[in-house]
Amino acid sequence: PSPAATRLDLDGNPIAPLTICMIGAGGFIGSHLCEKLMAETHHTVLAVDVYCDKIRHLVDPAPPHLAGRISFHRLNIKNDSRLEGLIKMADLTINLAAICTPADYNTRPLDTIYSNFIDALPVVKYCSENSKRLIHFPTCEVYGKTIGSFLPKDHPLRKEPEFYVLKEDESPCIFGPIVKQRWSYACAKQLIERLVFAEGAENGLDFTIVRPFNWIGPRMDFIPGVDGPSEGVPRVLACFSNNLLRREPLKLVDGGQSQRTFVYIKDAIEAVVLMIENPARANGHIFNVGNPNNEVTVRELAPMMTEVYTQMSQGEAPLDEPMIDVSSSQFYGEGYDDSDKRIPDMTIINKQLGWNPKTPLKDLLETTLTYQHKTYKEAAKRQMSQASAS
Ligand code: NAD
Ligand code: UDP
Repeated sequence: PSPAATRLDLDGNPIAPLTICMIGAGGFIGSHLCEKLMAETHHTVLAVDVYCDKIRHLVDPAPPHLAGRISFHRLNIKNDSRLEGLIKMADLTINLAAICTPADYNTRPLDTIYSNFIDALPVVKYCSENSKRLIHFPTCEVYGKTIGSFLPKDHPLRKEPEFYVLKEDESPCIFGPIVKQRWSYACAKQLIERLVFAEGAENGLDFTIVRPFNWIGPRMDFIPGVDGPSEGVPRVLACFSNNLLRREPLKLVDGGQSQRTFVYIKDAIEAVVLMIENPARANGHIFNVGNPNNEVTVRELAPMMTEVYTQMSQGEAPLDEPMIDVSSSQFYGEGYDDSDKRIPDMTIINKQLGWNPKTPLKDLLETTLTYQHKTYKEAAKRQMSQASAS
């Protein structure tokens, strides 16, 4: 028998093959999850998205050894009647679809709210009505700002974990005022999370809620002007990669003081597979998925990425000015605000699923920047010479 056929869950029971409806399967997280499920399990994936570039190697066409195990369904969940049929056909639905790049939260707040709340409503409803299990993906940003951030800068309590460690079932959710439209995303995500939770409480929906804490790795977002719009602003990994590829200074927003914990996408995907295959341990829970050991300020991340990138692109002299400061209103526009610090408490995921992140920040940056350099260096060069010629 193949290894997949003998897969056991955490309680030693054989895992039956599942059909999974994965919405947003063509995105960063979805592409890694599809790859992992195809390589290591016997489950079948109905991959739903409006585009499939990141999973083309799996679906266009599916390689012979995956025939019948993965199919791509190009549809927009906003307005497509095929959605309910796909959810009914599956044992489990995983919803990853969302607008989730901070540059959009304050500049396209309506699209952000519709995408993260309104468009997710039918998915929750169809799962509930058809008694199908749902794994939904809100965000660590539902916690908002830490309690400690409201204390004076040098206050000793800021160093106490209870003022900053984020716990799924205990921490409050603290957002800025309405004029700070940054929080449109977190607020929409919080409301959909409350709705999923309420469907569980009132109607018995089997759900798992995943709060990702800055998952990063290959295929995240896009490189502006290469595989995304020239004026587009992706998340920080792709922004800094783009700057390094083009030999521009890395831009530190509002001094780069914000703190983030970064987890390697492949570590995080292992946590999702454990949730998929251990419903009795995952249903009814909210899970932080992050790496509390990989904390840096954005100001520290910039020179780390520069150093790793410089080592792999031998021959390129360092820039005189490798980083510059920009204000958030210049970089993102009015209404931007920021999460100050994000340390995930790992107690629940540890207890329920025995999961721990493994990859240190330096290693995950090496793997990811090697991929960025190999995939994008020549295309970025070509694009820069075309732009300067025109
Ligand atoms: P992504 O943008 O790469 O993937 C989202 C995918 O959803 C895209 O392929 C997009 O085309 C698709 N999509 C969006 N709207 C759709 C619609 N109406 N119909 C069909 N498809 C649609 O983002 P990601 O990083 O893979 O994130 C996946 C989920 O995880 C999101 O819900 C996001 O909010 C959440 N999340 C991710 C992170 C992270 O660290 N990557 C952090 C917090 C939360
Ligand atoms: N950031 C930055 N320079 C950039 C892009 C982002 O300083 O070129 C900062 C941003 O202000 C935030 C952090 O990096 O403090 C992480 O931003 P990201 O877009 O990855 O998403 P977030 O973690 O805020 O959801």
